[in-house]
Order: sequence, then structure tokens, then C-alpha cells
Amino acid sequence: MRKRAGVALNVVMLGPPGAGKGTQAERFARTHGLPKISTGDILREAIHADTPLGRSAKTTIYSGALVGDDVMIGIVGERLSRPDTRPGFVLDGFPRTVAQAEALDRLMAGRDPLIIVEIVVPEAELVRRLGTRMICEHCGANAPIGDGATGVCARCGGRLVQRADDNQAVVIERLKVYHQQSEPLVEYFKVRPTFRSIDGAQPPDRVAADLAAAIEAAGNGALRQGVRG
Ligand code: AMP
Repeated sequence: MRKRAGVALNVVMLGPPGAGKGTQAERFARTHGLPKISTGDILREAIHADTPLGRSAKTTIYSGALVGDDVMIGIVGERLSRPDTRPGFVLDGFPRTVAQAEALDRLMAGRDPLIIVEIVVPEAELVRRLGTRMICEHCGANAPIGDGATGVCARCGGRLVQRADDNQAVVIERLKVYHQQSEPLVEYFKVRPTFRSIDGAQPPDRVAADLAAAIEAAGNGALRQGVRG
């Protein structure tokens, strides 16, 4: 995709756990030289480093519940104030509640509009994926589905393990929390000309191509309508 001079690609990825948001966000961000901001990664890093944030968020995350809105809004507000986000960013895992979405809209005042892409995947496929997903114990990278069998991270050689919140009971809780607290975000955003849905049940390369096309189309729609976030 060609980057239009002066227009930032401010992308938000929506979708349930296991939809492939993280993998696709990482890929799109890398290809376009944009920072990927994953609130789940920020929290897992904080737990790993045993910071005060990590210590207070740990029990919540491992139970499948959501960390408080104020904490999350503070983290993302600080991150979006950094200059590397000026050309755009890819948000993965935020917002997750309507209160977070409203706060994000306030943070975007005076910046280019948000481009919102929802990744849709049937529930049975989500449960299957989450049950087999592996991440690197060392660098936190998601192993592509199927690579878990090697037991070794392709990026850094670290050991692949199951995420602590991917065990069956917690997966069921996380999907419930998604339907109750995060699905309303689709209603919140879908009236905008910069909202798109894509089919996340396809092979990863197809999803990546659809994502890039959806972002391009949504970005053009925003420009035509002169919408500003
Ligand atoms: P993720 O890696 O995006 O699936 O996030 C893992 C866990 O981190 C979630 O189940 C929540 O407990 C917590 N978390 C991540 N992002 C948020 C957010 N925006 N609001 C609240 N909790 C979050």
C-alpha cells in the first residue's frame, strides 16, 4: 500500500481472543514501518519484569477478566503521546470497553481519523486455536499455528509454551468477557466510514491481504469524506 503524504494510518484491530489480531497487527505494522501497540504484550512484559503494574495486573489477567479502564487508558495515552506514533500506529487489544473507546476518541482529537478493522472468526474455531496456541517463553512472540510442534521460537530460539491464560477454563471466561464488554465496540464504531470487517478464518496470507485492502479502502473513505478523528 502507498502511504499518502501527511495522512497517518491510525489503525485499531477489533476481534475476539484467537482471531489473529496480534499476528496480523504485527505483520501490517512491520510492513508499513509503524509501531504496533499491544496492551496484552505491555501487561505481559510488566509481569515478566515484576513491576508494580505487573504485580497488580497478574491475578486479573490469569483469571481472564479485564484490567481496569483507568490503568489501560493511562498506559495507551502515554504510549500514543510518543513521537513514533505520528505517522500512525496499529493498536492491538485496545480499546476493549466502550469507556476505553471514548477515551481513545478523546486522545485522537486533532489527529487523523481512526481506521477500525474487525476480524471475524467463528467461535468454535477460536476455541480450537486458543487451545493449541503457543508463545515464546523468552520473547513473547506468537508461534504460527502448527509451529508449536517444533517447541522452539522461530524468532529467538526460546522455548514455546502455552499462555497462562489460554487454558480451557480461562479461554471460556475470556470469550464471555469479550461478548459482554468488547463486542459492543463493534456497534460503537461500525457507523463510521472508516470501519471495515474482514474474514479471519482464511489462511493468514489471505487475511493479511484483506486487512491491507480494508485499511486502504477505509483510509480513502476518510479522506473523501473529510472526516477527522
Ligand atoms: P491479549 O493479549 O490482548 O489477549 O490480553 C491478555 C489480557 O490482558 C486480557 O485478557 C486482559 O486481562 C488484559 N488486557 C489486555 N488489554 C486490555 C485492555 N485494553 N483492557 C483491559 N484488559 C486488557
